[in-house]
Amino acid sequence: NYNYSQKDPELWQAIRNEKNRQENTIELIASENIASNAVMAAQGSVLTNKYAEGYPGKRYYGGCQNIDVVEQLAIDRAKKLFHAEYANVQPHSGSQANQAAYAAFLKKGDTILGMGLDAGGHLSHGAKFNFSGKLYHSYFYGLDPKTERIDYHQVEEMAKKVKPQMIIAGASAYSRIIDWKKFRKIADEVGAYLMVDMAHIAGLVATGLHPSPVGIADVVTTTTHKTLRGPRGGMILSQAKYAKKINSAVFPGTQGGPLEHVIAGKAAALYEDLQPAFKEYGKQIIKNAQAMAKVFDNSKEVRVVTGGTDNHLMVLDLRNSDITGADLQSALDSVMITTNKEAIPNDPRGPRTTSGLRLGTPAITTRGFKEADAAKVAELILEVIRHHDDKDAMKQIKHEVFQLTSKHPMDPIA
Ligand code: PLP
Repeated sequence: NYNYSQKDPELWQAIRNEKNRQENTIELIASENIASNAVMAAQGSVLTNKYAEGYPGKRYYGGCQNIDVVEQLAIDRAKKLFHAEYANVQPHSGSQANQAAYAAFLKKGDTILGMGLDAGGHLSHGAKFNFSGKLYHSYFYGLDPKTERIDYHQVEEMAKKVKPQMIIAGASAYSRIIDWKKFRKIADEVGAYLMVDMAHIAGLVATGLHPSPVGIADVVTTTTHKTLRGPRGGMILSQAKYAKKINSAVFPGTQGGPLEHVIAGKAAALYEDLQPAFKEYGKQIIKNAQAMAKVFDNSKEVRVVTGGTDNHLMVLDLRNSDITGADLQSALDSVMITTNKEAIPNDPRGPRTTSGLRLGTPAITTRGFKEADAAKVAELILEVIRHHDDKDAMKQIKHEVFQLTSKHPMDPIA
């Protein structure tokens, strides 16, 4: 019952304001979610006080007996959830999981082949301004211009040409099923390792709603805070034969002391992810995304890239409207709908402006939105596209957003 607000009002007022913002916002950023109270309590626990360099049973510090139980629980639950032989739950983030996975299998100057940023890839898959593009020679594959889906033939041609030591599959803004077996075949043809970064879709993979790359790829990385609905962090899954080299690539290779309070949050989330209700949640995420895509598809102002979605997200092509991705993002912000601008394939505008918008349903689904609510959200977005210059119309839209967020409060999420 310590009164934080009186002692440090600036900080605690900002935290309260953020809680209010989240409560009153329709959150459509595809990489965000709402962690449970159990996840937040574990993360806010005394575990933050403890140094525990090393791994359970093999630490460089005393007093790790309880920490070992926590980390082993997280490891065992991750292995069970994904049917994996090996799990490392220490990476501080998705980017650090990728950094360690590269360090385990590659040496500086090796060649990697990943999905281009403009096609929906992540910057840690070889972007020139990221560590991955500085340490390794990076090349990129893209999408078939007609279908806007991964062009596996192009991946194969590129792989034969650049002879990568590692091929990276996985994306940040791709709405379709990814065929891991096709990637495996291409990797085998050129003698490359296959890494899958399933950060966005891990919760769907965990529940069988997207094919699993575990057992197909040599190494699988993920974040724990997106569809998995855990604390912010990363994780690596692989085969038992690679355990030693991945463990040492994480610690001492790229990190020091693990964030054991976050690992406790991961264990709490993985417990939830193993319950039957999580599969229902995953199904609802996809139903909600498809309900939104249907509304957009029937409009003349926007087009859904690839024509629809198989997962939790979609990218809108705004070229038929009079608004850019950046301007739509800020117009939506003003009515309490949070999204992010996104490049469409071969975007004629630059990355700061863009002609697209990325939308995802993990957070609204956690709040209990169903298909009818999701369709209503899509209609409200279309209204903003049509009436963003009309103050009265925008006021009315904001009111309707408030009605939806009031109908599905954040608080009861136990
Ligand atoms: N990999 C993918 C596919 C992502 O989409 C992201 C983040 O959005 C990351 C990795 C990086 O995760 P983090 O932000 O935790 O470093």
